[in-house]
Amino acid sequence: MSKTLFEKICDREIPAEIVYEDELCVAFKDIHPQAPVHIQLVPRKAITMLSNAESSDQALLGHLLLTAPKIAAAQGYPDAFRLAINNGAAVGQSVFHLHVHILAGRPFKWPPG
Ligand code: 5GP
Repeated sequence: MSKTLFEKICDREIPAEIVYEDELCVAFKDIHPQAPVHIQLVPRKAITMLSNAESSDQALLGHLLLTAPKIAAAQGYPDAFRLAINNGAAVGQSVFHLHVHILAGRPFKWPPG
């Protein structure tokens, strides 16, 4: 199977401004930022979307949630950030490799649009 866009970024085949990486995940700045801080946190494993994750991915998903606050803190926002996961084209997913949007640095409305 061909690599996803985000796999290519993880493997440094496509350039991106990587701000964090470890053995399980990579985080890089979004190419079209929607906030002063807008980072994509992606697992190295190419899970298409959250609803396709399996029980064997439990530790990986937990790792993403525990890592996101550390990345937000490193960007200067330890306690004021929003995480978003779009699951499916109907709600705005455009890259079919699971990713957590980390957004910070401006006010955010609720409910989201
Ligand atoms: P989605 O709409 O799937 O939830 O989010 C995909 C995100 O990936 C968007 O915020 C989009 O700007 C970002 N994105 C798409 N292509 C690239 C790329 O080539 N490089 C980077 N850094 N971000 C990308």
